[in-house]
Amino acid sequence: MSKFFTEKFAALEPYTPGEQPRDMQYVKLNTNESPFPPSAGVAEAVAKECSKLQLYSDPESTALRKRLAEVYGVKPSQVLVSNGSDEALNFAFMAFADEKSPLAFPDITYGFYPVFAQLNHIPYTQIPLKEDFSIDPADYMAIHKTVVIANPNAPTGMCLPLQDIEDILKSNPGNVVIVDEAYVDFGGESAVKLVEHYENLLVVQTFSKSRSMAGARLGFAIGNEKLIADLNTIRYSTNPYNVNRMTEFAGVAALEENDYYLQNAKTIMANRAWTVSELQKLGFTVLDSKANFVFAKSDKIDGEKLYKELKARGVLVRHFTKARISPYVRITIGTLQQMETLIEKIKEILGA
Ligand SMILES: *Cc1c(COP(=O)(O)O)cnc(C)c1O
Repeated sequence: MSKFFTEKFAALEPYTPGEQPRDMQYVKLNTNESPFPPSAGVAEAVAKECSKLQLYSDPESTALRKRLAEVYGVKPSQVLVSNGSDEALNFAFMAFADEKSPLAFPDITYGFYPVFAQLNHIPYTQIPLKEDFSIDPADYMAIHKTVVIANPNAPTGMCLPLQDIEDILKSNPGNVVIVDEAYVDFGGESAVKLVEHYENLLVVQTFSKSRSMAGARLGFAIGNEKLIADLNTIRYSTNPYNVNRMTEFAGVAALEENDYYLQNAKTIMANRAWTVSELQKLGFTVLDSKANFVFAKSDKIDGEKLYKELKARGVLVRHFTKARISPYVRITIGTLQQMETLIEKIKEILGA
């Protein structure tokens, strides 16, 4: 830390992204990226926009918001686009949470929530998941806080039924409930259809997972027009050109080819089922995942050791040191061939 770094950030613990190693070619199952490339139209759209880079991007991302509105059955004024959904989450925390409306989210969830809370000096409460790693909706009833729920949750992959989300919305009419649906396309049920009934609902999604565009940085939020207007106040006070022109039109192209991504999500779900059953045959406990990853532990090997042994064999998974989840590893679901390699290496490690 330099002597110039302000005191207000001295205690900030930044987010640790998953490894993006350059030392060798790994079977990369550690950051929940898609194993499939973007659809053909995406590369074409990017090339076309590249030749116009002397011009600023459209600060309203009109074309992309229009297309998203059509796909999700809302009005363009109910859609905000962002530089990754992380940015939409940060904007939402800035816009809707403070000392009077502090944050509440599970103790085990996406690691960026506490970071954004600290960055913006917003107090937060981490509510323990139940013993089985599920969220107890009762913990969030009439809580008078800004609620953030990843659904499916990370890194468990487990879902909260939409009815529970609805009950949380109803019991907290004075606060925004942010539902982070980064993984919803892999078998979850989206809360977007509740947006017309609840003015306090903000749904956040991303192109990083099911739409194979993690490197493009594109996310979006859907909610009541007024919530979106508030987010735009923050956005225009931060970076009106938050989505660059290549990314905007990559997004438009991806939505034109939505079927390709739906098919890929189906393939991932099938590969997930295969992986779960193979892991179970090897004695693993695997949480019920509706995401493009599984969270698994074995009595025969601890999480950190398994992570290291797999890495030594060219397979990267993610391990978290946090006490309750340190026995587990989080394994991204890739192609069937990648998952076969994973299982083969685990068998080798366990000496089975
Ligand atoms: C991956 C992820 C995101 C956001 O990723 P972006 O690449 O910034 O869109 C948000 N929430 C959760 C729970 C995630 O796992």
